Amino acid sequence: MGESKMVHSPPVTYASMLSLLTLCPPFVILLWYTMIHADGSICQTGGYLRQHGLQGFLNIWPMPTAIAWKIIACYAAFEAALQLFLPGKRVEGPISPAGNRPIYKANGVAAYLVTLITYVSLWWFGIFNPSVVYDHLGEIFSALIFGSFIFCIFLYIKGMELYPRIGKNFDIKVFTNCRFGMISWGVLPLTYCIKQYEENGRVADSMLVNTILMLVYVTKFFWWEDGYWNTMDIAHDRAGFYICWGCLVWVPSVYTSPGMYLVNHPVNLGTQLAIYILVAGILCIYINYDCDRQRQEFRRTNGKCLVWGKAPSKIQASYTTATGETKMSLLLTSGWWGICRHFHYVPEILAAFFWTVPALFNHFLPYFYVVFLTILLFDRAKRDDDRCRSKYRKYWKLYCEKVPYRIVPGIY
Ligand code: NDP
Repeated sequence: MGESKMVHSPPVTYASMLSLLTLCPPFVILLWYTMIHADGSICQTGGYLRQHGLQGFLNIWPMPTAIAWKIIACYAAFEAALQLFLPGKRVEGPISPAGNRPIYKANGVAAYLVTLITYVSLWWFGIFNPSVVYDHLGEIFSALIFGSFIFCIFLYIKGMELYPRIGKNFDIKVFTNCRFGMISWGVLPLTYCIKQYEENGRVADSMLVNTILMLVYVTKFFWWEDGYWNTMDIAHDRAGFYICWGCLVWVPSVYTSPGMYLVNHPVNLGTQLAIYILVAGILCIYINYDCDRQRQEFRRTNGKCLVWGKAPSKIQASYTTATGETKMSLLLTSGWWGICRHFHYVPEILAAFFWTVPALFNHFLPYFYVVFLTILLFDRAKRDDDRCRSKYRKYWKLYCEKVPYRIVPGIY
């Protein structure tokens, strides 16, 4: 399953990789510092850096400590054990460019629920206090930055494969992207709630809305995890810095950052506003899920399904694999996929906005993830379009004529 030479999607360039490598780690530390020690204010952190320069920056960079390594090691070992040993149905992944079909065990929902229940139970029964995680967050992020970097070097040495595995069954990308990364996106918001509860004796409604929406989103992800195994991240992007470092460091730190901010800013929204935001957020998550589900169901049934109550309109697109075989794919051109070629990114971005808006508008930094996600998804839509154009050629052109906009109808 190596396929290290099979680059089917445009690779991330060395220049962009170098900039990611040099900019992202300091950003993660500055984000954590600003949220937790500088009141969420970029101006305050900027003022500190102007005054103290590079040495000031080095002074705020927490060194990885033994407790940080222990927390990470316990979490990683727990997730690896759940991935290996929890039962799950056998799922076939998409055919790779070299014509292989990877096999997965779909036990993501169970792993996610077992993790959350175990984590809350450890707190409830006084065995482990999640506030410790919050109190050592800077050291944990620092350890993740260094540890993941070494891990990525190991992946490069192994050959940046499409489906790297340890043994026959332990899929590294499922571990980094789904289990370590995505489950941390459920665990850390709970940590922030518990920290706020321990500090103030209650959890503010803003924090509750933020946490519930993130948990609904991550639950949706695991509900659909075998669909994720058909996406660009898994099926086309080789395991390296962009994918693995992103999921091991960027997801736990940046994706959960609105909750990190709310710990020390317990905004009270009032029941009515809280419910409006919650309902709007859940609706967006549902629409995003429904877009993914529609495409998957359409492909699974070979186009023999109903899309919004009607037989779907479609394009039969043939393409040639890396080994020269001719294969056939169906492109859905009705339902959500008839509005725009990547309409599902709109509710994805709006959902992120709704779980951030409980922080109100006093500071920009909690909105960083929304801005980042918007840029990421617009870039992703372009990368995916380029890849599909070179895969399907005239059939993709036909799809673009039928569905001319990429993400926002009438605009882009
Ligand atoms: P997509 O769901 O956009 O799938 C893209 C692939 O689907 C294409 O490469 C092509 O693959 C196939 N395809 C394209 N058009 C059609 C069509 N009309 N009919 C049938 N198949 C089609 O993948 P993403 O990975 O971008 O998104 C998956 C989910 O993950 C979304 O919900 C997205 O919002 C979310 N996401 C979240 C991110 C985050 O950081 N929060 C980041 C990225 C995604 P093929 O080669 O099989 O034809």
